Amino acid sequence: MKNNLPKEPKRDKKNKREIMFHGIPASPGIACGTVMLVHDVSSALLDSKEYKNIPPEQVEEEVQRFKSAIEETRVEIKELRNRIQTSLEHHEANIFDAHFLIVDDRMLMNEVCMLITKKQIPAETAFSQTMQKYIAAISAVADPYLRERAADVKDVAARIISHLQGKGKFQLDHLPGPCIIAAKDMTPSDTALLDRANVLAFAIESGSKTSHSAILARSMKIPAIVGMNRFVECLEDGDSMIVDGFLGIAILNPTKDTIELYQQKEKSKAKLYSELLRETQLQSETTDGYRIQLAANMESADNIADVKKYGAAGVGLFRTEYLFMNTDTLPDEEEQFEVYRKVAEAADGQPVVIRTLDLGGDKLSRALGAYHEQNPFLGLRAIRLCLDNPSILKTQMSAILRAGSFGNVQMMFPMISCMDELNRALELLEEVKSDLKNSNLKFNGKMKIGIMIEIPSAALIADKLARKADFFSIGTNDLVQYTLAVDRNNERVAGLYQPTHPAVLELIARTTQAASDNSIWTAVCGEMAGDPRYIPILIGLGVRELSMSPLSIGHIRRLIRKISMHDAERIAEKALAADTAEEALRHSLEFMEKNVPEILSSIRGG
Ligand code: PEP
Ligand code: MG
Repeated sequence: MKNNLPKEPKRDKKNKREIMFHGIPASPGIACGTVMLVHDVSSALLDSKEYKNIPPEQVEEEVQRFKSAIEETRVEIKELRNRIQTSLEHHEANIFDAHFLIVDDRMLMNEVCMLITKKQIPAETAFSQTMQKYIAAISAVADPYLRERAADVKDVAARIISHLQGKGKFQLDHLPGPCIIAAKDMTPSDTALLDRANVLAFAIESGSKTSHSAILARSMKIPAIVGMNRFVECLEDGDSMIVDGFLGIAILNPTKDTIELYQQKEKSKAKLYSELLRETQLQSETTDGYRIQLAANMESADNIADVKKYGAAGVGLFRTEYLFMNTDTLPDEEEQFEVYRKVAEAADGQPVVIRTLDLGGDKLSRALGAYHEQNPFLGLRAIRLCLDNPSILKTQMSAILRAGSFGNVQMMFPMISCMDELNRALELLEEVKSDLKNSNLKFNGKMKIGIMIEIPSAALIADKLARKADFFSIGTNDLVQYTLAVDRNNERVAGLYQPTHPAVLELIARTTQAASDNSIWTAVCGEMAGDPRYIPILIGLGVRELSMSPLSIGHIRRLIRKISMHDAERIAEKALAADTAEEALRHSLEFMEKNVPEILSSIRGG
């Protein structure tokens, strides 16, 4: 167990009680360490009542600090606007006009400076108090357009506060030492930034199992818990805590006995993992001889080593959007090509499915500039964003096609909702191929092109889509969210996020049927593929490839080697006929209890 606790636990000095918190297990592993609270800007604004007065001789310095922060923010917004004007085809740069109005607002400036001077309070506090008034006033107006501007105001406030503090989210990549991160929220780009050498674990209030931050944590092998209701308010920096990412439990101020118990627990988990690692050479085949491909999902080219380590049959999903996050400029074709080539070569002839950009929703890129949407998961996300900015998509397509000369690369489009989108993407692909031909660059002109089935409309027209695609990969994370109208990031509705809801299973069945009618294959690359409980149902429904976090491959391989396709089909039939999600899962759980109890207890925390 990673442990940075002081030898003498802090509670002995402060007499703190041991408290247990329950959340949603997001990434397996156990860690014990000291808490580091990461405040987001909205809470920085809310905390403005708590402050220490500054001495009179510091007032002038504080005013200057505020003015510099405003100036730095102005420069930052200007740069962002310039970048957007050159990187996007349509001019969205005027979204920054509202931002400029705020940094240029003399009244606001004067009010904050006056507060600092008169009340002798820190610049952050004066600014936060003033902004809260502004935001409350804007949020209260009847005009919906004006009301929406509150988001712009918050955005600028965030930038100014971050300059004032001389720090910001970027700090996450340079932590002062080993710690457990606790926060209300962490965006996927925050998570991608995490200083892996020092983050023992993280526990956050928002999110659910299929939030991108949870997915990233698994890929980075950082134990994590999400959906921790009203948790942060109970913590202080430096508190001792255990994070159990298997069960989704955090224990604040653990006693010596509890720490020992968790050390034991971790040992028994490690034993199963090392047993499973010894099985990597075994075929992933049912007892009656059906081969199921187990591939790895990856978020960064660095994860490629895990493909071999865990015995994956290649990469079933490379989420390329992370190349576009936490960077101020879009990666150009050469930069992308180098990454894709490296992955293709390292995969040693095994397939590598490279998904084109899936930005939008909760995955935002600074390089594309800030744009505000009312419903980002229903907005300009993934293929929609790319078709709206064809030059970005064509650049990526070109890099992927070229990498195809160095390995078994396949391309996949995310979030296809209708034929038009697929047709347009394929048209652009032809244009890219002809440009590549003209420039005499080596590329794979026969690359397999697949699509993700993650929107109910796509599953319902899968028979039509199958005529134009070489393969399907079902993105169950989104398919569940869009079918059930349950936000995959919202911990408050996490109980309604039911992958075995009969409607979801029906859509999966339609998809595999359409694929087999058209002689193409169906993979699943959503988180369902890495959860052993769903495997009998998925393979029984005709799924022949499962792509998942490498950490799950051993568990799934062991289960597949214990089941026959005959049994899987019976389990799937009963699941399809069930009235409820719970009932649909029952037969699968019964199978596991009887045949692979160690795998079932590993996800139940036994
Ligand atoms: C999915 O939706 O299941 C999927 C694999 O894509 P992402 O999680 O990146 O949205
Ligand atoms: Mg998706």
